Formats: sequence, C-alpha cells, structure tokens
Amino acid sequence: MPARSLPATSSTSWDKPHTAAWLDTPVTKRPFFTVDAELPGRRGRTGVIHTPHGDIETPAFIAVGTKATVKAVLPETMRELGTQAVLANAYHLYLQPGPDIVDEAGGLGAFMNWPGPTFTDSGGFQVLSLGAGFRKVLSMDANRVQADDIIAEGKQRLAHVDDDGVTFISHLDGSTHRFTPEVSMQIQHKIGADIIFAFDELTTLVNTRGYQEESVARTHAWAQRCLTEHRRLTAERPERPAQALFGVVQGAQYEDLRRLASRDLAGIVDAGGRGFDGFGIGGALEKQNLATIVGWCIDELPDAKPRHLLGISEPDDLFAAIEAGADTFDCVSPSRVARNAAVYSATGRFNVNTARHRRDFTPIDAECDCYTCAHYTRAYLHHLFKAKEILAATLCTIHNERFVIRLVDQIRAAIAAGEFDELRDHVLGRYYGT
Ligand SMILES: [Zn+2]
Repeated sequence: MPARSLPATSSTSWDKPHTAAWLDTPVTKRPFFTVDAELPGRRGRTGVIHTPHGDIETPAFIAVGTKATVKAVLPETMRELGTQAVLANAYHLYLQPGPDIVDEAGGLGAFMNWPGPTFTDSGGFQVLSLGAGFRKVLSMDANRVQADDIIAEGKQRLAHVDDDGVTFISHLDGSTHRFTPEVSMQIQHKIGADIIFAFDELTTLVNTRGYQEESVARTHAWAQRCLTEHRRLTAERPERPAQALFGVVQGAQYEDLRRLASRDLAGIVDAGGRGFDGFGIGGALEKQNLATIVGWCIDELPDAKPRHLLGISEPDDLFAAIEAGADTFDCVSPSRVARNAAVYSATGRFNVNTARHRRDFTPIDAECDCYTCAHYTRAYLHHLFKAKEILAATLCTIHNERFVIRLVDQIRAAIAAGEFDELRDHVLGRYYGT
C-alpha cells in the first residue's frame, strides 16, 4: 500500500514561528481569541486562539500529555498527525520531576520538545479524584445514594478540602502535600504552559446539593485568588511568554448552580479591570446531559472568550459539545484505550486484539489517512498485542489520535461551509450504526 500524504494540518506554529517582535507586542493589543464562522441559531463556532507558541484553530481537540509526553508517541509524530496543542497536568509534574526542573528547562514546551501551544490543568481534578480513588468523572454513577464523603471501594481517603485549599497524599510515595489557589498558580507559572487553569474543587454527581452549593462558593473564591496571584506572578517575570488563565465552571448537574458559577466567574476582574482569558467547563457531567449542561454555562459566559470542555473525545460527545459552543476539549481516552487495543473506525470502535483479526490483512480503517493505516494491518497489530510488543501502543495511539483530530478538523470545516448537521448525521449514523 502506498504511503498516503496527510492533508495540510491547521497548525501554523511550526513552519512560521512567531518573531521576537510579535512576542514583544503588548498582550492587550493582541487579540487572544477571534471568532470566524458561527452555527446559525446555536452557540457553536469556529475561531482562532492566538498563543505565544502559535495559533490554535477551533474547535480543536487538545492531545493529553499528562507527564509532559503523549504516551508512546514522538512529538514530531504528534505534529504530523495534526495535533495543534498538548495539555499536561500540573499535579503530576509537581510531584515528578517538580516544577523547578521544568522551569529550568525553559518551560513545558522546551522540556518535552514540543514547540507548539501548551496547556496545563490546575491539578484540582487529580488531587481530588486520585484522593477519592475514582478514575473518571463522566462514568460516575449518578444513581448512587447522595453523600459527601465519597471514596471508591477499597481506597483510603487521600485528599481533604477546606476553604483555603486541599491537603493530599502523593499517590507516588505517600508524602503529604498542600495545594492552594496560590500554590497552583505558582506551579503552573513555573511549568509555563500558554494556557493554564484556575484551581477548582472537583465534586461528584453523588455529593449532596448543600455540598455542591458550598463547593461552587469555594471555587469562586479560589478563582479570584488565582487571578490575583496570576497577575502578581506575570508582573514578576515580564520577559516570559504571556500565559492565559481560564476560570473553571463547576456546579455538577444543577442548572442554577452552573449558571450562577458561570456568571460569577465571568464577572471576576483584577485591580486593572481585566478578567479571565477564557473558561473551562469542568466537573461531573453525565453523558446524556452533556450538551444541556454545557449550554447553560455558555449562555452565561462572554462570547468573546474561548471555552474549554475538560475530558471528552467520543464522537457523539464531540458533536454535542461543539454544537453547544465548546471551542477546545481534551481527553486522555484516545491514547489510553489504544494501549488496550481499542481502536476507532468510521463504523465504530473495536478491539484489534480479538481472534477475528488474527488473519485480517486490512488496515484498522481503510478511510483513515494515518501512518498506521497506511503501513500496517490488523493482523500485525493483533500479533504485537499478543506478543506484548510496545510498538502496539505507539501504532494504535497514532491512529486513535489522528482519528479524533481528523474528525474535529472535519467538523470545523463543516461549520465554515454550513454543513454541520449533514456531517453530524452522516458520521454518527455510521459510527453508531443508527
Ligand atoms: Zn489510522
């Protein structure tokens, strides 16, 4: 099979690095975000986020590189498959290798050899989710009895929240640590990603209503403290590339809390009258309510600022979130499931390590333009998984990341062309067989 060439990717940062003069332009004179096409009658849109390390054309899927690496894949390969930006995690990099080392290396992008745009999330999710012992907010069971002390079965509580911050025990060595809004900002400034997030409290769908109210108030107070600390740290090292700070909306499944949290965050400003550069929508979201909850938040958030949805990548969730107005989203799932032999195709997800693929000499997805589908068969991938060869993880991650990125590229083009609904019905009809 001949190698197929990739279509031109939307990332411009690699071939045309911004000049020093561009970086010297005061942030206030440079638009951080511009909106291009809009979905008629809905909140969905295309746009561009401008960062010191290049532009991100939205809607965009942000690849997750939790510990400053997209597991099993070279940065050059991530670039080739169209990745526009990488998101690392402040909690993990704080514990290992430590933010001082990332700072000394010249920041996250220089440390990991990724010259494009970068994000870090605040660590709030990991501090609280690893502390409570559950793995994934989206899959939490909302039908469980509501309670405020939620610990996964067989796990010890590792995180304690108070109004000032969170004390937690490292999952690596059992040592005790404390994150406050100020500490999270200090860590994220040392890591130096282009887009960073305010420290928030993650709640679950099974917390009581009373606790959710307290938590939203706490996250609001922390957001104000994050903005103040972010400005102080920015002024302290003015020579560094400007970092944009996003506030994070919580409020679980409650419409009034989501709307209140969004309005309040949008209203927070520093002493100079400047607010957050964008917003993240976080926390507990049930799949069937995803678009509704995102819609409540986006109703209340300013249109001129980008909105990031934390933790989605399934095709139906992508269409729903983009239609509701999400501009960027990240998810560890495409690479995580790839390492367990689950791969995406136009007609749905399947496991390439099952017996029926042992003599299957077709690519994962005949329509895919990725390196893996151009050069390898399902039979070979089946063999690699059975033989426990690490190349299996690399090849399947390349395919899954490319699948999601290409789908989001298609959605972006469809919004611009006025063909969003047609693309959604076509893609989801084939993927889910409906
Ligand atoms: Zn492929």
